[in-house]
Amino acid sequence: MNTPQEIVRDGWILNCPFCKEKILYTHFVNWSIPTPFFYSDGSNDVLLRKSDEKKVQELFEKKQPKSKPTLHELESLWNKILIDSPPAPNGGRFTFWANVKCPHCNTEILYNNGNKDFNIRVNDSKIILINGATVIGDSENETWKIKVKIKEKGDK
Ligand SMILES: [Zn+2]
Repeated sequence: MNTPQEIVRDGWILNCPFCKEKILYTHFVNWSIPTPFFYSDGSNDVLLRKSDEKKVQELFEKKQPKSKPTLHELESLWNKILIDSPPAPNGGRFTFWANVKCPHCNTEILYNNGNKDFNIRVNDSKIILINGATVIGDSENETWKIKVKIKEKGDK
């Protein structure tokens, strides 16, 4: 893959709870949930594809108007997406419970304090993007490298 295009987004600074270094981050908000997205277990890359979102829509359409997919059906779909997922450009594989890591000490910040609740994870609308992470879409045009810009005092 070529070097992805860079997207600059306003963000924030968090001091790493482990090494105390500054972590620059921003986020995307998914307006329609559930939307599949996954972090890599070896970097801060994120898999976020329109084609996966479409698979969820199709699953919901199949069930309408009488019901909606069960948690189990959603889980199967999420797992199916992961089986076919590409490797992360900056390292690692996309997995269900992987979460963002400090770019300095590489310590993973536990998702939901380590409480693995599928319902919460699958309906999570906020995708945390660490400075330098790559967001993988369906094509190179939909793949972005995240550059976090911190607003200085006096910036509008
Ligand atoms: Zn750290």
